[in-house]
Amino acid sequence: MALMKYAPQALKNLFMKPATKMYPAEEPVYPEGSRGHIKISIDDCISCGMCVRACPNGALSVDRNAGTWTIDRFDCIACGYCVLKCPKKCLFMEKGYQTPGPEKKEDTYTKSPEVLAAEEEKRKEAARKAAEAKAALAKAAEEKKE
Ligand code: SF4
Ligand code: SF4
Repeated sequence: MALMKYAPQALKNLFMKPATKMYPAEEPVYPEGSRGHIKISIDDCISCGMCVRACPNGALSVDRNAGTWTIDRFDCIACGYCVLKCPKKCLFMEKGYQTPGPEKKEDTYTKSPEVLAAEEEKRKEAARKAAEAKAALAKAAEEKKE
């Protein structure tokens, strides 16, 4: 009886294409909505830290001075909150899986030297303007006293 029950499926399987793919020779096709892993377009990052604050698992860190963005992929649960919160839209979810590795490690991305130099220039300019404004205020206060 059991044989009769499974015979149609067994016959069908004989003429069906294999359900498995010849990975990695054959490129995998990921289904719509699959999450994959987080990537960053690091030169567009403004080191605001919104992604760090949004991450429920503490998988991210940002070093504004060094111009780096770091993700611990073992702590990331691919929830996508950081992608939603990034004001510069420089985070995105890339379909597919990371290549497995033998040890736990973080991935750190560093801004290009040109972007770091431009940011440093902006900081100096802002500091110069702040010093000028402070001096102007002090001078105005002195004049008021006289
Ligand atoms: S996808 Fe989720 S868990 Fe992973 S880094 Fe972004 S916010 Fe954190
Ligand atoms: S939210 Fe976006 S811009 Fe801000 S630190 Fe994270 S990746 Fe950079």
